[in-house]
Amino acid sequence: MSDFDLAQLVSTDLAEVTAYQPDTRPCPVILDANEAAPFLSKEARARLAQVTAEIPWERYPDAGATELRAALAERSGVTPGEIIVGVGSDEIIALLLTVLSRERGRGPATVVTTTPSFVMYRISARVRGMQVLEVPLDQDWDLPVPALIRAIEMSGPNLVFLASPNNPSGNLMNRERLEQVIVAAQGALVVVDEAYIDYSSRQQLDLFSKYPNVAVLRTLSKVGFAALRLGWVVARAEVVNELNKARLPYNISMVTQRLGTVVLREFAGEIAQGIRQVQEERGRLTAALRALPGVRVTPSDANFLWTHLDQPAGEAFEALIARGVRVRSFHPRGGRLSRSLRITVGTPEENSRLLQALGEVVGA
Ligand SMILES: *Cc1c(COP(=O)(O)O)cnc(C)c1O
Repeated sequence: MSDFDLAQLVSTDLAEVTAYQPDTRPCPVILDANEAAPFLSKEARARLAQVTAEIPWERYPDAGATELRAALAERSGVTPGEIIVGVGSDEIIALLLTVLSRERGRGPATVVTTTPSFVMYRISARVRGMQVLEVPLDQDWDLPVPALIRAIEMSGPNLVFLASPNNPSGNLMNRERLEQVIVAAQGALVVVDEAYIDYSSRQQLDLFSKYPNVAVLRTLSKVGFAALRLGWVVARAEVVNELNKARLPYNISMVTQRLGTVVLREFAGEIAQGIRQVQEERGRLTAALRALPGVRVTPSDANFLWTHLDQPAGEAFEALIARGVRVRSFHPRGGRLSRSLRITVGTPEENSRLLQALGEVVGA
């Protein structure tokens, strides 16, 4: 007999949380995770191999990721003290929630975000016992300013997460509305998640210089380096100082630090070229999808297309899988997402296979 009872030990905050489980079943065409279409040249791959060959494997990495942060700071036009790097932006989201968690008033700390949006804001907040208010986006998938302001005034959040471009809807948030929410949330840190900004038509990093309560979240994951797991946040030095207290000292491996620095310093041209190719394919794919019967596609500022069908998305998803193409379906979320698919823009060949398969599924 053992007295061990896991349920007595596990945080009660985990009771209603399920683990994030990406679909890993093999499939010939994978367009479900917004990864970049491959673009890296042989020369670039050889350069990464060379840098890897010179790694002193017995050493710990630089705990402060000095060179990497310098490269990022240069790229963003801020100081290294205004940057903290994480194992993907997912780790930064977790870190922000861990640190800005002080209870205010009687209830737990609160996070305000929109829905549909990136699920890790909610999951990471709930795991930490924080309360999450998700305000539905308007019919154009843009910020519902009055409802957001009401939620902010009602709950006095510690953090507000706004993805722009948003995932899964792919659109940039209206600039004026973003600023209205930032001003209304003066007591909170407003995190503008720019995971897809490199694919978009507008920059918004100036929000960071303009408003003291704004932090900007970035990642290499959607521009060709998801394998590296490298994300960062641009925030005031005082915010970075607090985050550093809770950050694990060697969170960024030497592999990621060294390769990430090379990627940022040497591959900017190749990355920009890869982004242009995806933007061109995005145009072609949007037009071709819209030509299919019963298919609507909203304008995208990202590397994926928010696609709406006449038929239930779950059915279309399975029919696409049967044809060797995996996209992301949002039908489990129900409501206005029950007929929505999120389709990553892939290589020209992948996109053509997707078009062929979806054409069959919608009966073109
Ligand atoms: C993919 C994604 C991220 C997470 O990126 P990682 O850097 O890979 O952790 C963050 N925010 C949004 C909106 C995303 O779509």
